[in-house]
Amino acid sequence: MEKGLLIVVSGPSGVGKGTVLKRIMDDPELKLSFSVSMTTREMRPGEQEGVNYYYVSKEEFLRARENGELLESAEFVGNYYGTPLKEVERLRAEGRNVLLEIEVQGCRQVIEKVEDALTIFIVPPNMEELEKRIRGRATEPEEIVQERLAKAEREMQMVSQYRYVVCNDDIDLAADIIRVIILHHMKKKF
Ligand code: 5GP
Repeated sequence: MEKGLLIVVSGPSGVGKGTVLKRIMDDPELKLSFSVSMTTREMRPGEQEGVNYYYVSKEEFLRARENGELLESAEFVGNYYGTPLKEVERLRAEGRNVLLEIEVQGCRQVIEKVEDALTIFIVPPNMEELEKRIRGRATEPEEIVQERLAKAEREMQMVSQYRYVVCNDDIDLAADIIRVIILHHMKKKF
């Protein structure tokens, strides 16, 4: 069986990655599987263990990283995040196109390891809109909001390492564009 694609989607906090990706996740034609990351951050209301993340202690995270169990990892606003390698490999071997929703440092590591990774960066229509969206979430203290905003500014500088840049001005349109990009790359492989 042909190995599935490795798709990386990044974009600053609050850009709406999750909402856009939800629109295409269950499209049977795209054969997508979401890679569930490991994180040391607290679970947010509405999140579920094993669905949004595997929530682990710092010790567990560092042990997994030491043991080479992570495809990539990064520290983001004081917490660790990483992609479990085994699961990604298993799904790709089954022909699934595996979607990683990760930040920019992790993407850099993926590009170094997986030459043909399909990388997509989602940008907001403008930075004011992004700040509004980050504040709108309002589940975090001001200090963290400020850190996320500063991080978003820095992340926007990394867009050139991505193969595609998609603006999330309109959720349906952004989802459709990403869908077309994935279909194009699936066809190229077969
Ligand atoms: P959040 O705390 O908002 O869920 O995620 C913070 C950032 O970490 C987001 O940009 C998200 O894409 C990124 N992220 C989530 N999982 C991973 C991962 O496994 N590796 C890396 N490098 N970043 C991740």
